[in-house]
Amino acid sequence: MRPFGYERAADVAGAVARVSARPDAAFLAGGTNLVDHMKLGIASPGLLVDVTGLPLDTIESLPGGGVRIGALVRNSDLAANLVIRHRYPVLAQAVLAGASGQLRNMATTGGNLLQQTRCLYFQDLTTPCNKREPGSGCSAIDGHHRDHAIIGASAHCIAVNPSDMAVALCALEAVAQVRGPVGERSISVEELYRLPGEEPQRDTILEHGELITAVDLPALPVAGNSRYRKVRDRASYAFALVSVAVAAQIEAGSVHDVRVAFGGLAPRPWRARTAEEVLRGAPATAQMAARAAEAELAAARPLAGNKFKVALARGALAAVMRELITEATP
Ligand SMILES: Cc1cc2nc3c(=O)[nH]c(=O)nc-3n(C[C@H](O)[C@H](O)[C@H](O)COP(=O)(O)OP(=O)(O)OC[C@H]3O[C@@H](n4cnc5c(N)ncnc54)[C@H](O)[C@@H]3O)c2cc1C
Ligand code: SF4
Repeated sequence: MRPFGYERAADVAGAVARVSARPDAAFLAGGTNLVDHMKLGIASPGLLVDVTGLPLDTIESLPGGGVRIGALVRNSDLAANLVIRHRYPVLAQAVLAGASGQLRNMATTGGNLLQQTRCLYFQDLTTPCNKREPGSGCSAIDGHHRDHAIIGASAHCIAVNPSDMAVALCALEAVAQVRGPVGERSISVEELYRLPGEEPQRDTILEHGELITAVDLPALPVAGNSRYRKVRDRASYAFALVSVAVAAQIEAGSVHDVRVAFGGLAPRPWRARTAEEVLRGAPATAQMAARAAEAELAAARPLAGNKFKVALARGALAAVMRELITEATP
């Protein structure tokens, strides 16, 4: 590991100023992703600015009924919070579906959103990877791509975003609050992530030195009846092959309102607006959910090794709708 400097930030402005001033500086939160990457040689920052002492670790009510989650709220605390569990169950379930208890005790909200892909080749310095080394090639396209994207990918990179939390936040229309060297801005979690296109090395639209300070959940009535389902090779400690976050308001056997986002299918959490359009106003049935998934994935371009994900996504959405229908039926 290359030698690096370490500083503890005293305040948000200072943290932003320190990282902005040095192209090789990085924020350090729980360290469960960044420190792993430093050990593997994927990341080699010259300065770590530790933000864990900043006062961004609370969950608070917002005027208007929403909830603000500080960027340093640990994943365990988020999943255990009673407001989140009752008003946004899909978020608590998504967080609990990720990693392990020990990791969730360390991992933060901001760090979870900005964790990098688990593509095997990205983590293997001996193989070409456009995301790690632009222009070197993509080993996954003709290699092992069972876990990779079937929609939203490019000829330069087919990696998926690994965060479970981000999928739920995308369905909940959450908004990240960001502080940078030139001020503050709000970015919807969906728009925070970019598709790889010709620049697969850039996962998000954040500029160097921008710090996520919080994530805001809107007061979304539909969120109270919501679920997360993660399909993976092992029951724990495994990333999603496919996951789906659904919030649905079901009245008199019909879908009155609905939000859907998929994980494991794309380079970013995939808000399934086409599926939502099919479902809104339609009979609340698993068959209709399967049809909605098919409509969403009509644009999918799977490879030989991951075309099973289309059927898996269809089945996952149908299964979650079945559960939500059962819960909504008196
Ligand atoms: C074995 C293992 C299994 C896992 N399984 C899952 C899983 O199933 N599902 C899942 O979702 N995740 C999983 N994870 C990933 C885990 O959730 C992430 O490592 C963790 O959430 C990262 O949070 P952190 O606070 O430790 O981030 P760090 O490692 O500290 O930071 C990650 C990145 O975000 C940047 N950063 C951190 N905070 C901020 C901020 N506030 N603003 C701007 N930049 C910031 C850092 O500079 C760094 O680039 C797993 C990890 C491991 C090691
Ligand atoms: S899929 Fe992306 S991350 Fe994986 S090898 Fe190809 S370029 Fe690298």
